[in-house]
Amino acid sequence: MSCTFNEDDYRDQQLNKHLDEQEMAEPVSNCCGVPIEEDTDICSKCKEHCSEVEMGEFMYDAHVAYEEDRSDEQRELERDRDDEQT
Ligand SMILES: [Zn+2]
Repeated sequence: MSCTFNEDDYRDQQLNKHLDEQEMAEPVSNCCGVPIEEDTDICSKCKEHCSEVEMGEFMYDAHVAYEEDRSDEQRELERDRDDEQT
């Protein structure tokens, strides 16, 4: 079973959830950003082994990954535009 970051989940979190500082410090799995099962290193969402990170750190990583995705798309668009001009 693979554990990939779900962009829609991320967007929902952004829309529906305002994280305060305490929540940002919550320990969550580095893969899915959900609580880790107690006394294990098992992510409660995907049931894979994971590392513990702070919610704020996870959100930041997710944000960076999302931004990188977008800038890749942006570069593609710019390349297309360049092709049209020549
Ligand atoms: Zn997971």
